[in-house]
Amino acid sequence: MAPRSKQTPAPTAVPHVRVAVIGSGFGGLGAGVRLRRAGITDFVVLERADAVGGTWRDNSYPGCACDVPSHLYSFSFAPNPQWPRSFSGQPDIRAYLERVADTFGLRPHLRFGAEVLEARWEEDATRWRLTTKAGEWTADAVVSAAGPLADPQIPDIPGLADFPGRVFHSSRWDHDYDLAGKRVAVVGTGASAAQIIPAIQPKVGRLTVFQRTPAWVLPRRDREISGLEKWLHGALPPTGALRRGTLFALRELQVDAFVRRPGLLRLVQQIAERHIARGVADPALRARLTPDYRIGCKRILLSNTYYPALAAANTDVVPAGLREVRGSTVVGADGSEHEVDAIVFGTGFHVTDMPIAQRVHGVGGRSLAEEWKGGMEALRGSTVRGFPNLFFVIGPNTGLGNSSMILMIESQLNYLVDALTSMASVGATAMQPTARAQRHWNLELQQRMSRTVWTTGGCSSWYLDDQGRNTVLWPGSTTSFRRATRRVDLAEYELIKRTAPVAAEVAA
Ligand SMILES: Cc1cc2nc3c(=O)[nH]c(=O)nc-3n(C[C@H](O)[C@H](O)[C@H](O)COP(=O)(O)OP(=O)(O)OC[C@H]3O[C@@H](n4cnc5c(N)ncnc54)[C@H](O)[C@@H]3O)c2cc1C
Repeated sequence: MAPRSKQTPAPTAVPHVRVAVIGSGFGGLGAGVRLRRAGITDFVVLERADAVGGTWRDNSYPGCACDVPSHLYSFSFAPNPQWPRSFSGQPDIRAYLERVADTFGLRPHLRFGAEVLEARWEEDATRWRLTTKAGEWTADAVVSAAGPLADPQIPDIPGLADFPGRVFHSSRWDHDYDLAGKRVAVVGTGASAAQIIPAIQPKVGRLTVFQRTPAWVLPRRDREISGLEKWLHGALPPTGALRRGTLFALRELQVDAFVRRPGLLRLVQQIAERHIARGVADPALRARLTPDYRIGCKRILLSNTYYPALAAANTDVVPAGLREVRGSTVVGADGSEHEVDAIVFGTGFHVTDMPIAQRVHGVGGRSLAEEWKGGMEALRGSTVRGFPNLFFVIGPNTGLGNSSMILMIESQLNYLVDALTSMASVGATAMQPTARAQRHWNLELQQRMSRTVWTTGGCSSWYLDDQGRNTVLWPGSTTSFRRATRRVDLAEYELIKRTAPVAAEVAA
């Protein structure tokens, strides 16, 4: 054998773990905590960025906060008596997630700068091989917690590449750029834009808002949490649990209106109409801001400052999308032209075409993106036939229109841990849903979906894929999803057993 040159690094063993988790947002960190609690410590959390936090690391735009009360928008196993507001801001949520990583001993498992470029199922070895920017791993199981709203979407606008000013997406805020006195275009009027617009309107010179479709907006009951409340929740934890339980129950009670009786939402729509009337004096602007679809069909926004910001003297609301950019002029689909210094895109994320699907290859090398060409689907939002031992956290049809995603994440983690322990107890190496179980689950789910306000409310939204199918939301209560994911039913699965031992291997 030729002697190894000094420059050639020595071969290193490809590390093998029982579980590789992709992402370190609420989903990935929650998975880490639950795996450790189940006695599974042989796992890594692969994160493309250089810190934990996911959504709450990436979205640092002015005004960024949760729109589900903090005492519910947090882990049940990590209550935070110190939430500063009922709807806490991004810095506090991010700090909370950093604390979770510390408190629950997750640091040794975290690998930063480890963007997963490819995850490939190896049938012979019955394991996954993950190629990342920080090296290779093999794993018995993969947990994809790569996030439903993690990859920004910027529309393909003619002329945008030649725009001489600054351009950025809401989730990649350019903090080096001072907006004071500038002419700024905000494209989009969804949940992020509704927080950005009131936060920047007082300081910019001119604000031009491109609104393709108006959103329904309800008052936001935000307030500071008093010192007494914080003390009480810290000294007497059941008071915090009671608060969380009340917030939970109030949201569960609303579910029926969204999924079975959209007519009940008429009353809520009246509250929203009064909210517009209070915030906007000009009847022409009020008309422009009033949606023509039923409330709830698109995500309901919560804000007390959005309408006053849109009605301010330095704001123009363009009732159309952005069509074209010509030099420093932005042109609306209505033909209107506006000179601007910066364009902020509040245009959402790749949701129904989640980018991780292009990187995951299952049985026979087939990618998840190919598998989902006709629309995303999974069994119980968690597993997909043809992709053994791949578990989703926030998979297809697990999103919510009205409550905390952390409830859904924790349900999926119950399912994950039960799957891993059930497999071990029956001596299986891997599992994948049967075609029948996956089909049955989705047929029933889409049948329920057909009655929901998201389908019947007369809008198009980011919940729908390009075939008009809602593959994003869960058409039920969080309690029913908790029940559906409490235990893995092995009858819904094909079990795979590894027959030959897998040899250790080295990478060059
Ligand atoms: C501005 C904003 C406000 C929100 N407010 C609320 C709210 O009030 N209530 C609510 O219930 N939900 C809210 N959400 C939804 C929110 O996304 C979820 O609640 C939750 O944070 C999702 O957690 P996650 O871990 O699944 O995903 P994320 O937090 O998105 O984390 C995914 C992680 O995976 C990493 N990743 C992705 N791809 C790769 C790869 N290939 N390799 C390695 N790492 C990768 C990302 O860098 C990221 O760190 C909000 C979302 C946004 C954008």
